[in-house]
Amino acid sequence: MKRNKKIVLLAHCILNVNAKVYGLATVPAGCKQIVTGLLNRGFSIIQLPCVEQSCFGINRWGKVKNQLSFPGFRSKCRSLLKPIVEQVLDFYENGYEIAAVIGLDGSPTCGVNYTCTGNWGGEIGEDFGLSAKIASLDILREAGVMMDILQEMLEEVGVSVKFIAVDESNPETCLINL
Ligand code: SF4
Repeated sequence: MKRNKKIVLLAHCILNVNAKVYGLATVPAGCKQIVTGLLNRGFSIIQLPCVEQSCFGINRWGKVKNQLSFPGFRSKCRSLLKPIVEQVLDFYENGYEIAAVIGLDGSPTCGVNYTCTGNWGGEIGEDFGLSAKIASLDILREAGVMMDILQEMLEEVGVSVKFIAVDESNPETCLINL
């Protein structure tokens, strides 16, 4: 049996950059350094859902965490993560190593070390206080909504996993922490 039973959970858009908000793609398809780096190190990959696309589609505007911290979005995170957590638990109970969850810092959904916040919402345009809205945008030193929920769900089933994040300007650095 050749499998080595090492698995990571990876933010959806690292494998599929097309899920990102328009303007944020830094590569044409997915992050080759991370994906090949993981496979070369012997890690299988479970792709996490892109909850933002599921809720708001590919034509959505960029958002901040406080916009997404509402019951319906959290509930959608839970329902999309449920089959993944069940799969993780099955692996875990059968001796597989769940090596890490790899998120994407800055994202309101998939951030790990930091996310974004601000008075962001409503109509867009100077008549609607756009400058003040832009000025209110800031970094928030906490995880994004889906990562909060994923951590809760893994704790509920007794699976302890470290959470790390991709730095898109230096993608291979996240591999050092595995
Ligand atoms: S919600 Fe997560 S998976 Fe979707 S585009 Fe944003 S960072 Fe990527």
